Amino acid sequence: MHFAIFDSYNKNTEMNIKDKSLITSFQSLINTSDKIVIVPHNNPDGDAMGASLGLFNTLLNMNKQSTVISPNAYPEYLKWMPGVDQVIVYEEDSVKALEVLDAADCFIFVDFNALSRIDQMTEYFQNDTKPRFMIDHHPYPEEATASYQISVPEASSTCELLYQVIKEAAFEEFVTVDAAECIYSGIMTDTGSLNYNSNRPETYLTVANLLEKGINKDKIHHQIFQNNSFSKMQLLGFALSEKMELLPELKAAFISLSKEELERFNYQSGDTEGFVNQALWIEGVDVSALITEKDDMVKMSFRSRGDFPVNKFSSAYFEGGGHHNAAGGKSELSLADTIEKFKSALKEYRTVEK
Ligand code: 5GP
Ligand code: MN
Repeated sequence: MHFAIFDSYNKNTEMNIKDKSLITSFQSLINTSDKIVIVPHNNPDGDAMGASLGLFNTLLNMNKQSTVISPNAYPEYLKWMPGVDQVIVYEEDSVKALEVLDAADCFIFVDFNALSRIDQMTEYFQNDTKPRFMIDHHPYPEEATASYQISVPEASSTCELLYQVIKEAAFEEFVTVDAAECIYSGIMTDTGSLNYNSNRPETYLTVANLLEKGINKDKIHHQIFQNNSFSKMQLLGFALSEKMELLPELKAAFISLSKEELERFNYQSGDTEGFVNQALWIEGVDVSALITEKDDMVKMSFRSRGDFPVNKFSSAYFEGGGHHNAAGGKSELSLADTIEKFKSALKEYRTVEK
């Protein structure tokens, strides 16, 4: 197993790589593979899809055949991304996905570090022995995920990290405007438009590199954040005015949405993106949650400001994980019982914390 943490980048944006051999491995894996499969995590977000398609478009320009296979559907707000129409969704077309997986020479995993994060595709990789490369910025990578791991929790996003890896591997000249727009999207969505997780100068140097590639930053912002359906805006209004609860003694606020409520507002995948952040915008609140009822489980989304580790909280109570200030998880209980569990878990955790 080859494993490296890239401490931080030097001022000249070169990464301070403890194990330079990982970049050499990445170069040779790309150079010697004809069929490359890129895999983002389940419920892919802007960073996961941005890194997948950023790499896809770069490889395309290198005349390398690559395919992005997403475990399940990607959200509506990412459907403008160049190359998205060629993404195979495993959940919707597993026959074709398996054909492509079987024919692949190698795999590149982006924006996750545990096989459990790819849900229905987990089993395939538990039994596969082809070379796997992971590029990710979540803490606590699991060893079984990939034999080659580039894991940098300090990076704002996997997209920022990917760009540095591409640069270090001397593939930067192959990054097209299309690739750069995908890569910028991940930096933008994982930092809330450079609002959080973005205090390192290196992030801005990467953005500067992408601007030099010719991206239209304002257009991307518009496509992702300002291109909502009318019903999504109404759902947001409903969620904030009717479904947000404040727990002042726990310095928390949360929004819960039932399946029926989502359907009433013609819910499309991705429509609740960002809601959980808004619950954190209340004075005195440093933890927020979005609790949504899905077909087979209740999805939990957590955000925090400062010291509260939502990844540890989610892992302790909701089978989840993620980053210190942004994490997710799930519950097998009913929506009502999940809400009660969330409240009592938070109370317990706050008490332990003190
Ligand atoms: P979101 O709330 O946007 O779904 O997820 C926030 C962060 O937590 C993302 O970085 C995401 O990858 C991670 N995350 C979301 N759900 C899970 C989960 O069930 N398990 C783990 N380990 N991480 C998750
Ligand atoms: Mn990410």
